Amino acid sequence: MVYFVGAGPGAEDLITIRGQRYLENADVIIYAGSLVNTALLKSAKEGCKIYNSAYMTLEEVIAVMEEAEAKGLSTVRLHTGDPSIYGAIREQMDELRKREIAFSVCPGVSSFCGAAASLQIEYTLPDVSQSVIISRAEGRTSVPEKERLQKLAMHQSTMVLFLSSGLAKKVKEELLAGGYPADTPVAVVYKATWEEEKTLYTTIETLPEDMETAGIDKTALIIVGNVLGGEYQKSKLYDASFTTGFRKGLSD
Ligand code: SAH
Repeated sequence: MVYFVGAGPGAEDLITIRGQRYLENADVIIYAGSLVNTALLKSAKEGCKIYNSAYMTLEEVIAVMEEAEAKGLSTVRLHTGDPSIYGAIREQMDELRKREIAFSVCPGVSSFCGAAASLQIEYTLPDVSQSVIISRAEGRTSVPEKERLQKLAMHQSTMVLFLSSGLAKKVKEELLAGGYPADTPVAVVYKATWEEEKTLYTTIETLPEDMETAGIDKTALIIVGNVLGGEYQKSKLYDASFTTGFRKGLSD
């Protein structure tokens, strides 16, 4: 059996209890070495074989899983954050399906949730933004034309950009071309929930310079939108005058 496990954003106690159990029982662990906190590997049992996928191709990863499966062993494939976000798990799952190797997926705390916690923000504020766009600037991996940042920017909803911290100039140009005002607030969170976490508050206008000054060009999220500002409406859910399925409002 192969378990794809979300390791969480960085802090070792932000893995789920289920993910932790899988780790403790694994005979083989293949972890994404570029971003997974290696402190998590302390939970591996004695004799567990550990591989760093940063040095491996897809074929090599699958070969390790296949060999473990043939011996009836349990494999954990440890991905950073939640595996469903830029995790490259689909290609692995498809190869396992072809080989009729059973697998399951254990979710994790994505870094965009870790970053919101660090910034102490809410991505969805009444009358400000009720949507979160998760995307990336185009780099070596292409982005479909319809999803260019410039086009997504037209919504002016909250945006969380992964894999884009080396592309700050391009991010700025596309967001401005898409119609975001230059003074729209932006936060950058480097290594959210790690000890070396850094946060930076800026605007679209000054994003590239401020990131350069702070020396942030990888392992960061760029968060854009007015949810970073001070204006919003309170929720209806906790409004004293509002009746919900659980509570009668004052005005009814
Ligand atoms: N599956 C992961 C994302 C993997 S893609 C998740 O759910 O978080 C790798 C990118 O994620 C990095 O380039 C960076 O943009 C972002 N990232 C991952 N961990 C991060 C962290 N702790 N803080 C900030 N950004 C992070």
